[in-house]
Order: sequence, then structure tokens, then C-alpha cells
Amino acid sequence: MKYVSTRGMAPTLGFEDAMLAGLARDGGLYVPAEWPEFRHSDIAAMAGLSYEETAFRVLRPFVADAFDDYQLMDMIEGAYASFGHAARCPLVQIGPNDWIMELHHGPTLAFKDVAMQLIGRMFDAALTRSGKRVTIVGATSGDTGSAAIEAFRGLESADVYILYPHGRVSEVQRRQMTTPADSNVHAVAVDGDFDDCQALVKAMFNDHAFRDEVSLGAVNSINWARVLAQTVYYFTSAVALGAPHRPVSFSVPTGNFGDIFAGYVAKRCGLPIDRLVIATNQNDILHRTVASGLHAKEGVSPSISPSMDIEVSSNFERLLFDLYDRQGGAVVQLMDELSGAGRFTLSQGALEKLRAEFDSGRCDEEETAAVIAAMRAETGLVIDPHTAVGVKAAVDARGNAAVPMVILGTAHAAKFPDAVEAACGIRPQLPPRMADLYQRPERITRAPNDLGALQGLIREGIRA
Ligand SMILES: *Cc1c(COP(=O)(O)O)cnc(C)c1O
Repeated sequence: MKYVSTRGMAPTLGFEDAMLAGLARDGGLYVPAEWPEFRHSDIAAMAGLSYEETAFRVLRPFVADAFDDYQLMDMIEGAYASFGHAARCPLVQIGPNDWIMELHHGPTLAFKDVAMQLIGRMFDAALTRSGKRVTIVGATSGDTGSAAIEAFRGLESADVYILYPHGRVSEVQRRQMTTPADSNVHAVAVDGDFDDCQALVKAMFNDHAFRDEVSLGAVNSINWARVLAQTVYYFTSAVALGAPHRPVSFSVPTGNFGDIFAGYVAKRCGLPIDRLVIATNQNDILHRTVASGLHAKEGVSPSISPSMDIEVSSNFERLLFDLYDRQGGAVVQLMDELSGAGRFTLSQGALEKLRAEFDSGRCDEEETAAVIAAMRAETGLVIDPHTAVGVKAAVDARGNAAVPMVILGTAHAAKFPDAVEAACGIRPQLPPRMADLYQRPERITRAPNDLGALQGLIREGIRA
């Protein structure tokens, strides 16, 4: 399996190099050169398999010769052993033909664990056999950073520096980043906002001398291996609800377009998905794009579903590549327009293709709170604000009632206790396996919003 860049000007790579590279050298994102095909009989044969066994079958063609069968299965089993549910990503019924897929049973209570737990192991295996080390640097608004620290802590092959905006992540998110004691992981509180953190990371990647000196790596959501790992749960849930014999629809709370793109990948590979619903909060650039074809930045306003407060939705580029018949030149032009004028307009053909696969919905702050309260009253379930956005969009987009609708439950309510309590009057409790989170000692590095200072801190850290 070969991987090509969405901008058409970077070298074609195998799975391992595409994973380690993260971003392609031409600024594009890696995607498979062609989609592997899962036939009707391949999907039918997944019925009754464990999550791990299905993951093996889904990942196998994409990973190709990067890992042998034994290694791949070993990494998959290790990745999900710590999940707090035997089904790993279980379905909970909330309506006549409506389901929430709970993706929060991993160690940091958000769906990011599903991919990060696996790619931590893949990075380690690949680096260990080549005798290399990496320094992973990332910026987070909360969930990605905690999942990365949890997945990479204790590894010999990697040092991890996660920059987060000081005072602007929830207490649970901060504690998940600052309480692991392993010396190779570092949570760095930057005096600035999330955009400052992201700008610092970008500046480090653009400083080529520094990049080579510390061999910088990235595990943010543009990493192909993360998208791939998320494709698995579309298969497990669809098969549980009757695929390949009947189609299933999904509603996906969306920010960077990674999770929903994983659903699109599953569909391209033959999984019978009817509709993919892009669910946005008040930061609704993607909803507006589906509605009008105009993709225009308007500025981000903070919400109670903060992991979706995003306007430059990086993985949307992967979809654009397909909408424009895999013409890298067309993608380069759109991306130039977006970074220059802050907007682009989809061609009529691209817009039609987008609408053929995707619906979209928007959920503002009051609506998000109302959905949390209604869900609690009607089903007894306490859901988090991101999941609530998915529920609202699913209701609005509901087409054929005979097609099961699966809403991706992207986080545990206890990760956002203040918003949930304000909405429904119940303060969600952490699961027992992490009930002592508030007692564990924290280890925080404070840093100014200054590139030189951060580079110094990292140099010193990896030498220690
Ligand atoms: C990251 C995140 C999202 C958005 O996922 P994307 O892949 O960026 O679209 C939604 N909900 C939660 C809880 C998240 O952490």
C-alpha cells in the first residue's frame, strides 16, 4: 500500500514512513493511493468478532508490510487492553433506531485514545527496530494532548512535549496531562492561547536545523495512522447493526474533520454507509460549506464543546482531494485561497459530490444544553456537550427511519463536568479506575510564549 500527498508534490511513501512523517513535505496530507476493497463477504465475516479481531482485518491492507500479522495483532491487543469496557466501543440505544457509540472508555475519556493508544505502539515498534528516537511536539486544546501523553508515557523511543494554553483547559484535561510521572512526557503550560501554542509548534517545524537536531515528530490529527485507527469502529458498529445486509448512517461531532473522514474511508472501502452527518457547534464553517459551497473563515468563538472550536479543519483537505478527482494542483489552489483570502468556493461538481455523501447540522450553545437535559430526562443517560451536538444534528438530518443512526459519543461527560451540570443538574463522576485523579500530584512546566525559550527547554529536557 502506497500513500500519496494531497498536494501531489511530495514523495510517495509506505505506511511506516507516512506515519512517522505526519505532514507531507509539500504541506499536504497523506492518503492511500487507492482504496482497498472489503467485499460483502469480507464484511459479513466480521459478524461476532471481537473489536480487536475486526481491527486486525480492517487495518491489515492499509498497514501492508510495515508490520507482520503477529506484531499487528499484538499492538492492537495492547492498545485496547486498558479500555474500561469489554466491547471497547459499545453501542447504547437511545431511540427506536438510534444509537450512541461510546468512544470514551479509554484512559483519558475521549475518542482520541482509540487511535493514540494504537499509534503509540506503532511508533515505538518502528523506532525501536530502526534504533531511532523522536521528539514529539504538539499543541492541544485538551483531549489530544492528554491522549498523546497517556499513549507515549514510559516509551524509550520518544520524548513528548505537549503545549497547552495556561488556564484555558478544563481541570480534568489538565490533570490528565500533568499527573503521569514518566520522565519522557512533559505538559507545558504556555502563557498564551491555543493559537499561540499552535504557532509555536509550527515555528519549531519550520526551523529545519532544530527539526533535524531533535528529530521532531507529530501526532496531531493530520497523522494518517490516527484516521485509519478510527475507521475500525465504523465497521464494528455497522456490523453489529446489520451491515453488510443493511446500511447504517452516522452523525459525527466534527472539528478537524478527522473522525468523520474515517467514516468516509470506511464507506470508500465498501462498508454500506448511507449518510455521514457533519455535526458542528456554533463554529459552523463546515455546515455552511455543505449548505452554500462557500468555505469562509469567520473567527472562532469559544463554546461548551471546546474540542470543536476550530476553523481551519485540517483533514477537510483529504476530502477535497477526492472531490477534485485527486488533482493535487486543485487542492494547492484552494489552500492558497484559504490562507490568503480566508475563503474559497467549491466548484459545482465538487459541491454535488460533497452533498452526495454528507449531510450537516449545527447546534448552538442553548441547543447543546437542551439536548443534554432532554437526553437525561428521556433515557437517563448523561452525555457530554460534544456528543450532544452529534445528537442534535442526527435528529435534524434524520432521513429514512429504517436506517439505523449511530451518533459518535466522543467524550465522557465527566471530562466537562461544569457544562454538563449546568445543563442537566447532575455532576458527572469520573469512572472508578480514575477516581483518584484529583489527588494525584501534578507536574507542570510553565513557559513564556517564546520560541527560543521553548526550544531551550526541549534541548535541555531530551539531554537529561
Ligand atoms: C477532537 C474531538 C472532536 C473533534 O474531532 P475531529 O476529528 O477533530 O473532527 C470532537 N469531540 C471531542 C470530545 C474531541 O476530543
